[in-house]
Parts: sequence; structure tokens; C-alpha cells
Amino acid sequence: MPRRSSRRDFLSRLAAGSAALLAGASAVSCAPAAPPAPPSGGRKLGIALVGLGYYSTDLLAPALHETQLCRLAGIVTGSPAKATRWMRLHGIPQSCVYDYTTMDRIADNPEIDIVYVVTPHGLHAEHTIRAARAGKHVICEKPMALTVADCDAMILACREAKVKLQIGYRLHYHAGHQELLRIARDRDLGLPLRMTGANGFRAGSKGWRMTQKLAGGGPLMDMGVYVVQAACCIAGAAPIAVTAKEDPKTRPEIFDECEETLRWTMDFADGSTGTFMTSFNEGVGDFRADGPTGHIELSPAFSYRGVRGRTHRGALAIPNINQQAAQMDAFARNILEDTAVIAPGEMGRRDMQIITAIYEAARTGRRVEVSQSTI
Ligand code: NAD
Repeated sequence: MPRRSSRRDFLSRLAAGSAALLAGASAVSCAPAAPPAPPSGGRKLGIALVGLGYYSTDLLAPALHETQLCRLAGIVTGSPAKATRWMRLHGIPQSCVYDYTTMDRIADNPEIDIVYVVTPHGLHAEHTIRAARAGKHVICEKPMALTVADCDAMILACREAKVKLQIGYRLHYHAGHQELLRIARDRDLGLPLRMTGANGFRAGSKGWRMTQKLAGGGPLMDMGVYVVQAACCIAGAAPIAVTAKEDPKTRPEIFDECEETLRWTMDFADGSTGTFMTSFNEGVGDFRADGPTGHIELSPAFSYRGVRGRTHRGALAIPNINQQAAQMDAFARNILEDTAVIAPGEMGRRDMQIITAIYEAARTGRRVEVSQSTI
């Protein structure tokens, strides 16, 4: 049965369940990522967080106290009260505090190597492009932007500035999802795959996440993007076509600008298919793929802590890492070693192509082909 909860309650409860890791004789071990080596010269890369809301406060700032290769060096906020609190709490000097009008001056700050954009989705493009033009590497939260055209502009700005761009897909650094990738690579389940997945939480009231201007949609942009990610991971490709249908709204006063619950399908070139759901009305978070020779199931699949999983071979023993710390350290390593980013802008752009097609399918009732164009 769906649980009823606020987003924060929902995520906290999942975090609280983190101690209950799967183990036992039948457990299949998911090896934890190798601990990162400290940067040569001893200096950790400085990260400036842009937007000090829930995710920055509750997840990223605490994670930055656990990272090996990077540290919290600066902030961008429109709130002087928040600036004072963060300076005191995290030992950030005044010289590393910016607001949205002065953030371009980060260009002159050698303490800041990376700008992490954690503002509402509709501001990601502007803040990413400004950070790139300031000559800083950029992490941009999901979903990358509101349109594929904005994704293009972000990627081009980063290429022009010769800086790296990572999308905040934290689950790529998580052993359960790395197992999805391994299974996909080894074609462990056979083909075709039949997939199901759902991700959502119960929203209590209207906020920016339900507006077209700042969110570009509703739960599909915010939560469904993780289901799209998992499906593409295990299918090893983007879908060729989608269908979609919105559920009738139970609270139209909150969801007057976006969907409340959306169901969609994805068809892949190899014959694999999936049936998925996302909602701002239900606390859910599961993913499953079945093939001719086996299956994998993650439940909860998308939480910060306590992801559990099993395959046809048995339970997965998934180490309970700090996903945000692992994600930021991986990006710092990419910068220090000049290696390819695991979840780059091109991946965020691909997901926006899929999401755009899903919204078009929901609007028209038609099966919509997904653009396979690249940049
Ligand atoms: P939030 O509303 O708690 O915080 C947003 C911050 O942006 C606030 O500090 C707000 O003051 C600031 N802001 C700046 N300009 C604004 C404007 N014009 N209107 C509204 N706010 C403005 O949101 P959040 O939950 O921290 O989410 C921020 C981003 O992080 C979103 O894109 C979201 O998708 C992403 N996020 C990712 C994860 C993840 O698991 N990767 C989890 C949570 C949030």
C-alpha cells in the first residue's frame, strides 16, 4: 500500500532504515567504490554551493564534511541571514560568500574550483552557464534543465570554457545501481527485459516544484527522472519511443500547472519494454527488471540510504555509502586526473529528450518517438 508522507519525512524514514543492510549466505556482494586518494599537493578542491535550500543544507553540506578530495569553500545565497549562519556553521570566510547578483565574481576566487548548482530546476541553465563563464567546473542538480535547448547551451558553455560538467545523478556512485550497470554490461538477465519502476512522494502543498516556470513540470521532472535513469542504465540505451497518461487529479488546487501522477511506457530498440509511474501523491520508490534468465529488484531503489536489492541469485549486500560524498569525490577525481565524467551533461540532455517525449505523449495521447540526436 502507498505510504502517505511529506518529501522530507519520506526521505528521512528511508535514511533511518539504512542500518538494515542485506547480508547472509545468499548475499551477492556489491563491492564498495575504492576509497579516493588525497589530491597531490594536499589541497582539496573548493566547492561553492549555489542555493542553500533543503538539499544543500541536509545532504550536500554534511556530505562535504565526509569528502576526501573536495571541501565546502563558498556559498551563493539571496538570504543574508542564511549567509551568516553558514559562515558560522561551516567556517566560510566573507570573501567566499556571494549572492545571485555577485556570483560571477567567483571567477576571481582561487579558493573555488567547482560551482554546485542546487537551485530550482528552472534556474539550472542560467547558473550553470554563469559558473562556466566564471571558469569553474560545474555540478548541476537533476533535472539538468527545462528544455533540451537549455541543455545544449549549458554543454556548449562548459565546452567553450574548457570546464567539466557533472549532473547530480548520485545513484551512479551507489553499489546497487552499479549492479544494474554490470548486469546490463554482462547481459545477465538475457533479452528482452520487462521493467517496472516508480518514484514519488506525497507533497503537502503547492511549491515551486509544481510550477511550469521553475520546475517545467511536476513529479516526472523531479522524481520520475530517476526511474528514466535506472531504465536507461539497465537497457544500456535510450528508448526509441514512449507512451504516457496522466492520472485524474485528486488535488487540482495544488496541481493546476503540472501532473499529479503520471504513468508511462518506454520501448527500446532491442525489444525491451518498461511500465513506470511517478507521483507527488504517493511515497514510492521501486525498480525491477525481468529477463529470460533472471531478474533484479531494488526496493527502496532511489533513497539516499538503505537501498535494498535482490537478484535471481539472492540478496544484494549493498554497502551504505554516502552517495553525495562519493559523487562529489568522483567529480574531483575527474578534474584532478582529467578523466571522463560518469554522469555528464550529455546524459542529462538525453534524459531531457526522453522527458520531453513523455510529456508530449501524455498531452497528445500518441506514441512518441524519442529524439536520438546528440550534441
Ligand atoms: P529548495 O526549495 O529546498 O531549495 C532551493 C533553493 O534555491 C532555496 O535556497 C531558494 O532560496 C533558492 N532559490 C534561488 N532562487 C530562487 C527562486 N527564484 N525561487 C525559488 N528558490 C530560489 O529545493 P531543494 O530540494 O534543495 O532542490 C534544489 C535542486 O536540487 C532541485 O533542482 C532538485 O531537483 C535538486 N535535488 C536533488 C536531489 C537528489 O537526490 N539529487 C534531492 C533534492 C533536490
